[in-house]
Amino acid sequence: MRRTIEIPEKVILTENHPCVRDRRFRPAACPACGKAFWSGQAIALVPIGPGENPEAQRLCREGLAYNAACIPAHWWCVTGEVEETVLRSPK
Ligand SMILES: [Zn+2]
Repeated sequence: MRRTIEIPEKVILTENHPCVRDRRFRPAACPACGKAFWSGQAIALVPIGPGENPEAQRLCREGLAYNAACIPAHWWCVTGEVEETVLRSPK
């Protein structure tokens, strides 16, 4: 299923989100500040490009919409918008 998103897309982390739960998921920490993700934080999914998907690469070359590979980063590290969750410490 395809959908159009705002860039960056804002996601609130839950305890079951791979960024919080699964340390095999990379990056395990925010690439902008190096700090870990934890439940309740807002993150942005930052598109980095078409990745290895040939169809996405073709659409990208043609200037059309495509499914992008994304990396997670803290919402405030991407947008500068500080939220209440910044003040919370990890459980
Ligand atoms: Zn960060």
